[in-house]
Amino acid sequence: MIRIALLGLAHETNTFSSVTTDLAKFERDGILRGEEIIAAHATAHTSLSGFLAAGKDDPSIEVVPLIWAWANPSGAITKDAFNQLTTEMLSLLRNNGEWDAVFLAQHGAAVSEEFPDADGEIVRRVRELVGEDIPIGVTLDMHANVTSEVVRNATVIVGFQTNPHIDARERAEECASLILETVRGRIKPVMAFTQIPAVISILRQSTLEEPMSVIVNHALRTLSKEQILSVSVFEGYPYADVEAMGMSCLTISDGNYELAKATNQEIADEIWSHKSDFQGYACSAAEAVIQTCKDNRPNLLLDVGDNIGGGGPADSTFLLVAALEAKVNGFLMILHDPHVVGLCIASGLGAKVSVEIGAKKDGRHGKPVLVDGVVSLISDGKYEEPTPTHGGFRFFDSGPTVVLEMANDMLLILTTKITLPASLEQIRSLGIRPEDRRVIVAKGTISPQAAYRPIAGKVILVNTPGDTSSDLQQFNYKQRRRPLHPFEAIS
Ligand SMILES: [Zn+2]
Repeated sequence: MIRIALLGLAHETNTFSSVTTDLAKFERDGILRGEEIIAAHATAHTSLSGFLAAGKDDPSIEVVPLIWAWANPSGAITKDAFNQLTTEMLSLLRNNGEWDAVFLAQHGAAVSEEFPDADGEIVRRVRELVGEDIPIGVTLDMHANVTSEVVRNATVIVGFQTNPHIDARERAEECASLILETVRGRIKPVMAFTQIPAVISILRQSTLEEPMSVIVNHALRTLSKEQILSVSVFEGYPYADVEAMGMSCLTISDGNYELAKATNQEIADEIWSHKSDFQGYACSAAEAVIQTCKDNRPNLLLDVGDNIGGGGPADSTFLLVAALEAKVNGFLMILHDPHVVGLCIASGLGAKVSVEIGAKKDGRHGKPVLVDGVVSLISDGKYEEPTPTHGGFRFFDSGPTVVLEMANDMLLILTTKITLPASLEQIRSLGIRPEDRRVIVAKGTISPQAAYRPIAGKVILVNTPGDTSSDLQQFNYKQRRRPLHPFEAIS
């Protein structure tokens, strides 16, 4: 019998965000223990689902889900939350052993108040507890700011290789299979890791387009070499002011470090050769609404400055103001505004309300907007996405949700919980056909595209101001590594 512990603490930390990531936020967004992990993930397309699958059809393998803590991207994890969660992780690991291996479902861009490399600290503590001989398999998001501390303490690291991330399950299956082969003594994974002195704009990170499509395909071609077991390219996560912020790549070979190193250098050189394509362009909110056209498919406006998947507050109003000023017809936007949801529910279905919407968390995401509308629907905000969209989640909960109908066939969906715009079911479950809308705002850059692109006509990237603006020059970095393209010129 092979017994494997499954656990993780996954957070993408936007160190510029004003949203505190304390224990209460983790509890709201999702701390799952034991069977809860199976219920939420076994039938999903997440990395946890891939790890769980390793023990499904083989009675000689037991994957034991312990705890998985996750919070929507937001500010630094408080010292207290990090302490409590890691203490629970380690005591579960200690009290339920012995283990033949450990699966860690991390994100790779977590920062706590105490540890700029929170993922490194977690993998280090797990290694310290289980000892040198137990293989540790780690999955990371493609946005991980990978550090040598994570690499030093893991046995196998596998990163998502798609953005939007639709391969989370497959990458975890790959990681699990390499760990099982290691436990069985059939392979000896060795990893080579390289940080590339470059950051790629969020606007250029889609793996469906150049330069990332070319970079990832080049990296994957090296898998045809004998003894190369796995390769991962990491785009990095630019909204974290930490030393490791930026791109990296990692190659795993079977016992041949020199080969892993040479192959990884080849991938790093390929990434570097594309650096002139790492900057992108996005228009302003006013320019975006002017560009929208009458089409038989909805225009999709991507609200880059309020990218929920990157730590935006989900209540920016710049695009709402621009749409109201331009009297855009058939507009649809989802905003996080628990206060107004409460007011609308209290007023009741069919009530006419006059409310101030959005921009309530800080002064960087517009101003609250006074709107008149009718409460046309009230829902519990729960929905399910059966197909693999960004991140692979299946069960979603936006909390109590209302639809506000306004003049010019404008619809606002207001939620009490922040939810990644990763599924059209968020709209469809409210009886709204997204296909019938003329203009839809999705608060994200690349991540919403897996769900929204199939129904969208024109897709417009909008560089709204905010905590996830594509204009990186406006962020005051103190800790990032230097030199780093494009901030500094590197020959
Ligand atoms: Zn990501």
